[in-house]
Amino acid sequence: MITGTFNISYIIMRLMSGMISNSRSNGKFGKYGGKYIPETLVPAIEELESGYEKYRGQRSFCEELDYLLRNYAGRPTPLYYAKNLTRYAGGARIMLKREDLLHGGAHKINNTLGQALLAKKMGKKRIIAETGAGQHGVATAIACAVLDLDAEIYMGSKDMSRQKMNVFRMELLGAKVHPVVSGTQTLKDAINDALRDWITNVNNTYYLIGSAVGPHPYPTIVRNFQSVIGREIKNQMTEVYQHLPNAVIACVGGGSNSIGSFHQFISDSKVLLYGVEAGGKGIRSGEHSASLCAGSEGVLHGMKSYLLQDQSGQVLATHSVSAGLDYPAVGPEHAYLKDIKRVRYVACNDDDAVNAFLLLCRYEGIIPALESSHALSHAIRIAKKMDKTGYIVVTLSGRGDKDMDIIMEYTKAKNAPMKKRLMKINHK
Ligand SMILES: *Cc1c(COP(=O)(O)O)cnc(C)c1O
Repeated sequence: MITGTFNISYIIMRLMSGMISNSRSNGKFGKYGGKYIPETLVPAIEELESGYEKYRGQRSFCEELDYLLRNYAGRPTPLYYAKNLTRYAGGARIMLKREDLLHGGAHKINNTLGQALLAKKMGKKRIIAETGAGQHGVATAIACAVLDLDAEIYMGSKDMSRQKMNVFRMELLGAKVHPVVSGTQTLKDAINDALRDWITNVNNTYYLIGSAVGPHPYPTIVRNFQSVIGREIKNQMTEVYQHLPNAVIACVGGGSNSIGSFHQFISDSKVLLYGVEAGGKGIRSGEHSASLCAGSEGVLHGMKSYLLQDQSGQVLATHSVSAGLDYPAVGPEHAYLKDIKRVRYVACNDDDAVNAFLLLCRYEGIIPALESSHALSHAIRIAKKMDKTGYIVVTLSGRGDKDMDIIMEYTKAKNAPMKKRLMKINHK
């Protein structure tokens, strides 16, 4: 996904000094979304729009994607009743939607397979993407390998040295990783280079965005590919438990696993929906990534949404213990769902997320991603307040193997409060 603190639309404007266009089909969620892009990108975006409209309902496309999701990625994923954690939380039943069991270890594959297949149908042989921590780059490389497409991933050289394993993974999977040595050598410069690439190679190149963000039609495309999560939750709940969930909870970075979990339930007004943002060191500290809880309306990465920005519109630096939530904006549909109060957005801080992480390890034998641990923490918090006969579904967006280093740091002896928590959990 796109993470970082740089304003794409600003970069494109600077690069191409083109006109801002927000015309044609508007792709709005209330006043949010749209396409804030320069003229030079309009043909590419229009081609994507018509390509998506053409193939989304086409039988062979749906069958091919369905085959890959089932037999390659591992769908449907289980819906697991976390009995031990439920007993610990002492309230409503906590159900885990196990996206962590997918190939690649997270929900990202739902989107990369969908978009890569779309690219292939549209006759684009070359896929580009940018990546920060490398998770989206790896998911893109996987999808391109299996669909025989060329993957080129832009990554800041500083990020590359911090995330050597993901660079190596991408290369093993056949992707070319372009080190970006300009600027701060991180994501914002990688985005810059990826966009420059897309603008010059639109004819044969597809830009594969990693979350429900960016100009229309990306937020809708990504949401639709991720909606399989919520469709399965609904089927599993009604078939096995003859009951809709009382609440669905998911973490929000750019917002793809959450919108994918929520979409099917938007019109079921009795189902409470919670999006959990990264509260970092606390909203008051300013070191967080909670764009919906603490941000304001603005334009970034080709869309209008909530952003973390200062008075003059400069995008602020963000922080989260989980790289996947460390993003200064959020998908536009979430901004709309917040305003109409259909989804409640809350923030969970680093310590509470790590605590929930430790609890799931010890109580259920599942090592969750730190991103997902934010959602888990909120589920534990609200379970107590809900009736024991209720069901809370938590989307476990990914597994936590990637987070071992961070957890080791956190639970070191010098972090006394965390050590104490760990001891308490160990002596349950
Ligand atoms: C990338 C990632 C996220 C955040 O992305 P969304 O688009 O908000 O879903 C969450 N969880 C995991 C495991 C991730 O890898």
